[in-house]
Amino acid sequence: MSTARTQTRAIEPWTELLDAARGGESLVGESFEWERAARTTPIPEELHPDLAAALRAAGVNELYEHQLEALEAAWRGPAITTTGTASGKSLCFNLPALDVLLRDGKARALYLYPTKALAQDQARAIAGLALGDRVRPAIYDGDTPREARGQIRKRSNLILTNPDMLHVGILPNHAMWGELFANLAVVVVDEAHVYRGVFGSHVANVLRRLRRIAGAYGTEPRFLLTSATIANPVELAERLTGLAPVALVDRDGSPSAGRRIAIWNPPITDEALGIRRSALSEGAELLASLVGAGARTICFVRSRKGVELLTRLVTLELERRGTPELAERIAPYRAGYTPAQRREIEGRLTAGELVAVVTTDALELGIDVGALDAAMVVSFPGTIASLRQMWGRAGRRRRGLALYVASEDALDQFFARHVEDFLERPVESAILDHESEEIHLAHLLCAAHEGPLSADDAEWFGPRTLAYLERLEGLGELRACDGRWVLRRRERYPAAELSLRSSSPDSYAIVEGATGEVIGVTEAARAFSTVHEGAVYLHQARPYRVLELDIDARRAIVEPFDGDWYTQPKRETETLIERLLDRREALGVTLSFGRVLVTETVLAYQRKRIGDHEEIDLVALELPPTRFATQALWFELDAGVLEGFPPELLLGSLHAAEHAQIAVLPLLAMCDRWDIGGLSTNAHPQTGGPTIFIHDGHPGGVGITRLAFAQFETLVEDAHRLIGECTCADGCPSCVQSPKCGNLNEPLSKLGAQELLARLRRANNSRPLAGLRGRGVARDLPN
Ligand SMILES: [Zn+2]
Ligand SMILES: [Zn+2]
Repeated sequence: MSTARTQTRAIEPWTELLDAARGGESLVGESFEWERAARTTPIPEELHPDLAAALRAAGVNELYEHQLEALEAAWRGPAITTTGTASGKSLCFNLPALDVLLRDGKARALYLYPTKALAQDQARAIAGLALGDRVRPAIYDGDTPREARGQIRKRSNLILTNPDMLHVGILPNHAMWGELFANLAVVVVDEAHVYRGVFGSHVANVLRRLRRIAGAYGTEPRFLLTSATIANPVELAERLTGLAPVALVDRDGSPSAGRRIAIWNPPITDEALGIRRSALSEGAELLASLVGAGARTICFVRSRKGVELLTRLVTLELERRGTPELAERIAPYRAGYTPAQRREIEGRLTAGELVAVVTTDALELGIDVGALDAAMVVSFPGTIASLRQMWGRAGRRRRGLALYVASEDALDQFFARHVEDFLERPVESAILDHESEEIHLAHLLCAAHEGPLSADDAEWFGPRTLAYLERLEGLGELRACDGRWVLRRRERYPAAELSLRSSSPDSYAIVEGATGEVIGVTEAARAFSTVHEGAVYLHQARPYRVLELDIDARRAIVEPFDGDWYTQPKRETETLIERLLDRREALGVTLSFGRVLVTETVLAYQRKRIGDHEEIDLVALELPPTRFATQALWFELDAGVLEGFPPELLLGSLHAAEHAQIAVLPLLAMCDRWDIGGLSTNAHPQTGGPTIFIHDGHPGGVGITRLAFAQFETLVEDAHRLIGECTCADGCPSCVQSPKCGNLNEPLSKLGAQELLARLRRANNSRPLAGLRGRGVARDLPN
């Protein structure tokens, strides 16, 4: 499919804006992605004729090549599709799944979605295919009325649900779902990249339980996954499902708009402190210009507070420019809208009544606005994978502008200085660990409830199953009987006590005081630092203030919060090495990976103003210490590396280097810096010398620091560049200061850390230590 080139150079709504900015200090990078024509192929003869007819009736007369490839892959075995935003990924699993349902009247399919909104969209799309009553989709989630549930179980042959419901509602009651499990042909896992970290480690266990129960009913369903672009799609699919090999479909045959990419860094307003104009103010001005030029724009902001602020700022800016009427054509968009409200916004946007929506990435999870002229992302959304997904919205009428406005955060500024790196850097890996101990053991109990376990269940849960079963027996949770393990009698079934969003069954409920509604849970190990009395707690980008933390009842009472401050806890941390799992020489230091015991005492919290991070006050707290075991890497700096290093700067240098490494770790593994913790000390009792620890922030750990151990050289290089290139004098939030430092960023030496990391990079003698490689060679360190 080729199209004639237009004779004259098209003037895009953003041409003027970019032309004016070129040569200035804010437009720090530009790039262009060429338009790509579709590669299509006829609908294959082998597809069920009724499905082919339904596609044609819906206006689909050809398939993109990747859709055919996905269909053929699905016929052979498990597969994952990772093509771009709006590339018709749904057909990649709908074609094989619906084909099976049409051919076999008894067959069943199960679709898993991370959110209810996405499940609703998919149900609507399937219903739109007009396949009559041979395909009977139904949503089964927490909102499904009780009286409708029995009918759905009996009648529907395509169940759309979420992993939480599968875990707590469907698997434990599999006897009621016998029809589904005995005929389960296809399991679809859409948006699989969402299943990473703690959540992913849980879902990997839930899917193994699903395969086990299906096996007990005599079926072996075909798993079909999709994901945004990530560095390790096949590995993710294999870790999630426990199946291998999983086929990869990633050659995108869909057409793609030509896209101009512009990277924007707000100007410096205070040279000495290195302070820049806020990304929100800058974003508001850019949005006003785009809207003024008639560009239909979607603007992504990280928090709900940010959405409100930016919407208010852009209104003021439009008034200032003498076009206040435009403000009415910009809508803020939040999660939590009903399907009807979402459809209304979509409709107004499509009709051109609205020119812009401002949203958190909630929109990625549940609104379908199609392509727009411009997609603007204000501050780094956490991963390049999600940034690219957001940018993918730009490209109506074959051309689009993808804009990114950097905030002052360390990663944002790192990217603003390395635009090429940013645009070409391979996307991150999605990491999970189904054997993360606390998570895994808890799911074995759930599995025992679903049916007695035996050594044969290693087929589903992995080679350590027997050892774990014996351990659970030792803990009094399971009872052994003739080579089978059954659950001991308990009050509630285990799944009812286990949240998939928390790494430990021991958790605190977050309860909204006025309504009594449970809005979330947090792990006990993190409760004191996140929901202590007075804490401002963010839930789905929305702020709440903690009124009371009830330790005995394991709950925090909160209220919606509208103030202009946030809180940062002051903590005392100790790290004890429990088990050394791996060790190597790297960059002149001894680098170790293992299991550590982290003890934390939250002493106080600081209130800080949102606008300028100015401290308001410090409030003391009285809380007992908490302790959790997790994974960590640590490295010891010996006398050689430290020769001539000023001793009074050592602690501040270690601390600043640790912060910088934590700041850049999300470049390697898809995680948030809040998922990682650290400790620096100039004399650790076990290593006997100056040591930096970087540990997983969740009990048990989910493999993030294992990856950092393997890629330590990259981690040091990125951290060194982060610090060395920041123009501030003594350290700022864009380099060594951390918004989550338990010591409130004291002491920090930017220059010392720069020197330290430079010395590591010069040493460059990485090699494995003979005989200590690999996962199986654990040994205990002397205390
Ligand atoms: Zn700095
Ligand atoms: Zn710190």
